[in-house]
Amino acid sequence: MAALVPFDDRDGFIWWDGKLIPWRDAKLHVLSHGLHYGSAVFEGERAYGGNIFKLDAHTDRLIESGRLLGFEIPYSAAQINQACIEVMAANNLTDAYLRPLAWRGSEQLAVSAQHTKIHLMIACWEWPNLFGADRLKGVRLGLADWRRPHPQTAPTASKAAGLYMIGTLAKHKAEAEGYNDALMLTWDGFVGEATGANLFLVIDGKLHTPTPDCFLDGITRKTVIALARARGIEVVERHIPFADLARATEAFLTGTAAEITPVRQIGPDLSYAPSTITETLLADYEALVLMPPEEVAKRAA
Ligand code: PMP
Repeated sequence: MAALVPFDDRDGFIWWDGKLIPWRDAKLHVLSHGLHYGSAVFEGERAYGGNIFKLDAHTDRLIESGRLLGFEIPYSAAQINQACIEVMAANNLTDAYLRPLAWRGSEQLAVSAQHTKIHLMIACWEWPNLFGADRLKGVRLGLADWRRPHPQTAPTASKAAGLYMIGTLAKHKAEAEGYNDALMLTWDGFVGEATGANLFLVIDGKLHTPTPDCFLDGITRKTVIALARARGIEVVERHIPFADLARATEAFLTGTAAEITPVRQIGPDLSYAPSTITETLLADYEALVLMPPEEVAKRAA
């Protein structure tokens, strides 16, 4: 593995509570509520050719994620959008991954945290694809022991930092077994998603995808559904039993970091070959992300 460049030792600027500050100065006090109690929400966004794809949708989800954790981010959607654009420009990036994060500060350090300040930072860096060189040959998903929690057990519609604890456990096990990522089931045993991306299957020429009622309804997921419908491909959202994985001929993941990534294997027994539907949607997605935001708004829901 190539030497890792630690995230705290890079050049550039980070937007923090309204100001651009040098990257290495963006340090947090260890007694921050977000660190101890997981009271943090974040976004993952991608810019292509200088335009942040679906910026409004990401900003709206960030604000809503905070509300689901009981806090209000102290910036308007327009201010957050502007900050995303500013931090990209400050880092001289046009094709980048952006990471806004909002968290409770250090005024209180107990379960009750009503008077903590809500902070917001936005960083960006180059990140070609979540799966790197493995992406286009298709990734292999191991089977996770951990499941997505019931929506009454955790705020599952929020992109809350704490929920990623389960994803990291699942992904580490999958990687230790030689897979690229893990397929997580829902709390009640249906097919869920990967640790940072939604799943689609092609069954009898139709696109099937799990109903996102206990995990994130991804922005890429919604985009791909719109692209498929525009092509006349029928899309079925439903609870998918594990046994249906054997009926699928194609499978792929969707996510901001994963984009559209073909899946070539799930667990030890199931294999897939990307074919017409995956390839068509992948090409349509790659064309869409390069369009100006006004055009994107016209074409995809
Ligand atoms: N599920 C999880 C757990 C994720 O982290 C992500 C990435 N944000 C997704 C799904 C896909 O969401 P999106 O398409 O909005 O990036």
